[in-house]
Amino acid sequence: MQATMMKVKLTLTHFLDRAGKLFPGVEIVSRMPDKSLHRSNYGEFHRRSRLLAEALQKAGVRKGDRVATLMWNHYAHFEAYFGVIASGAVLHTLNLRLAPEEIGYIADHAEDRVIIVDDILLPLFAQFRAQTRIERVIVVSLTGKPVPEGCTDYEDFLATASGDWDYPEMEEDDPIAMCYTSGTTGRPKGVVYSHRSQVLHTLVQCMPDGVGIASHDVILPVVPMFHANAWGIPYAAAMLGTKMVFPGPHLHPDDLLPLMESEGVTVSCGVPTIWLGMIQILDRDAGKWKLDKLRLTVGGSAVPEALIRGFARHGIEMMQGWGMTETSPLATVSRVMHTQGEVSEDERFATLAMQGYPIPLVDLRIIGDDGEQPWDGKAVGEIQVHGPWITGSYHELPQSDASFTADGWLRTGDVAAVSKHGIVKITDRTKDLIKSGGEWISSVDLENAIMGHPAVAEAAVIAVAHPKWAERPLAVVVLKAGQSVDAAGLRDFLSDKFAKWAIPDAWQFVDAIPRTSTGKFLKTALREKYRDWKWD
Ligand code: ADP
Repeated sequence: MQATMMKVKLTLTHFLDRAGKLFPGVEIVSRMPDKSLHRSNYGEFHRRSRLLAEALQKAGVRKGDRVATLMWNHYAHFEAYFGVIASGAVLHTLNLRLAPEEIGYIADHAEDRVIIVDDILLPLFAQFRAQTRIERVIVVSLTGKPVPEGCTDYEDFLATASGDWDYPEMEEDDPIAMCYTSGTTGRPKGVVYSHRSQVLHTLVQCMPDGVGIASHDVILPVVPMFHANAWGIPYAAAMLGTKMVFPGPHLHPDDLLPLMESEGVTVSCGVPTIWLGMIQILDRDAGKWKLDKLRLTVGGSAVPEALIRGFARHGIEMMQGWGMTETSPLATVSRVMHTQGEVSEDERFATLAMQGYPIPLVDLRIIGDDGEQPWDGKAVGEIQVHGPWITGSYHELPQSDASFTADGWLRTGDVAAVSKHGIVKITDRTKDLIKSGGEWISSVDLENAIMGHPAVAEAAVIAVAHPKWAERPLAVVVLKAGQSVDAAGLRDFLSDKFAKWAIPDAWQFVDAIPRTSTGKFLKTALREKYRDWKWD
């Protein structure tokens, strides 16, 4: 017997056509470098993405060729997300926050030959172009200035297409996009996504039990479009026809808040450092911003419970997801589960501060020194994942086998416990672990607790060598403007939350904590800086 269902390939071009057919009038708003607003819609998005695809083919781009982007979040980047894919090529989003040498390495490793670049990022491109094999430079003029000689204006490029064009043959397992890990764990490694992986990721992401996005939402992605597929938002947006609000290069909370209010944003997503900055402004300007419909999705690093509570005080719900470039990126989402039964207010916030349950189609296990660990909320081990949008290898990197187990699961390098309800709580990344006098100390738990102090804006905890205890935690703290607390005060604040030996005895008060290219605390820089810590 055979199933009678039609055999239909899962391809992202379906989302593109659906957006053009069903939602042509829905707006796509982009903030330009001069802060003016550029307004487009899904009808234009559909037409122009297809023109881009046709123009790329006419320009000799073949199936599987890499087309790089070096752009902020705006309409043209959104068009590239679909136009490049629709041409049969592979979209390679370059991380504009990396050092030029590093971007050059990545663009060369991926063998990018065409790039679509914002005119305001041309000076950055000039710093790494010589390292690459890029032949064709297509420039999006955000400033309205003419593009330099030797480059093609994006609008002129689109004009080379006729619009009378069909998609090339596609298979659902064809490569469509690639992202490189941000290199915090060594040389960046390339992850290549397929139509199928991203279609399935999108469907599960949008579920009410996933991130929960619906067509009536208005989404402002603060997460850059070069960071792990912008967490899947562009695909979800096209599938659902959500109004989009792209912030362009203006990511400061002072810029985001008025835009969120005036455009009626209901969903925004970004790393905790963005929201740590925003909550200070909301607290300062209490009642000023009308954001009662706003929900925030946060991920990329651990989310302090105090931050979730802080936004809740302003009526703003915060939901966290956990994942990585290798997992497309969504693997778990924080939810209070029905299996938990009635929960108190405190239990609810504690649950939301955990990384959450594995979403459908993602299998997850924790592996300790003695094998697979029970889900009892106590036993910890490295998280390993398996699923249709989890990478099974790295692009042209056979030696990366250590990232995968013999039975084909991805080793994430994150250490966690899982509760009996299947809720994951990350305690650390393997390389951030602190082992003091034979006991593990969770840097994540300490950071989150310290950030719960009302005078603290940000905190990062690292291991520093100690002559007696092997390692001890060092807390690096940024205070809120006009607030004060000293090390003794913070130790006292932690005293009822941690065992005595887990509380840091080394403290540093600084003006800012260095950030990675995706806005996370850069612990490698802190470890370097405080490597020779002198104990009294
Ligand atoms: P990089 O590995 O360079 O930081 P990614 O953006 O792929 O680049 O980061 C993935 C890592 O970010 C995860 O392995 C995990 O350590 C961390 N991470 C992501 N989301 C969360 C979260 N909600 N809580 C704690 N850590 C997180």
